[in-house]
Amino acid sequence: MTVSELVRTDGTTADVSLGQLHDTAGQVDEELLPCRVNNPELWFAESPADVEDAKALCLACPVQALCLDGALERREPWGVWGGQLFLQGVVIPRKRPRGRPRKNEAAA
Ligand code: SF4
Repeated sequence: MTVSELVRTDGTTADVSLGQLHDTAGQVDEELLPCRVNNPELWFAESPADVEDAKALCLACPVQALCLDGALERREPWGVWGGQLFLQGVVIPRKRPRGRPRKNEAAA
């Protein structure tokens, strides 16, 4: 079993493995996991409001910290995991609305 030291967004560290994460999540009643009892597409939504709803639902999840650690370890490419939004393997504060130009793009 591989153990990795993670540095969370708050600067704390944790030793986790994917096996540990799966074992712990497997011991929890699925009905307590918000992403199992709600529409799972909410965790991969395009709408910034839906993404914020998913993040809020994660906060009540009994495996939230482990889920976040696992997502950081796997460098999840997309979606809400452990109450945080991931994009290309890193946590980003919020989803940008569709069609909004980036700050560094030149005005047309
Ligand atoms: S913390 Fe993870 S397992 Fe819990 S609801 Fe959020 S995405 Fe699902």
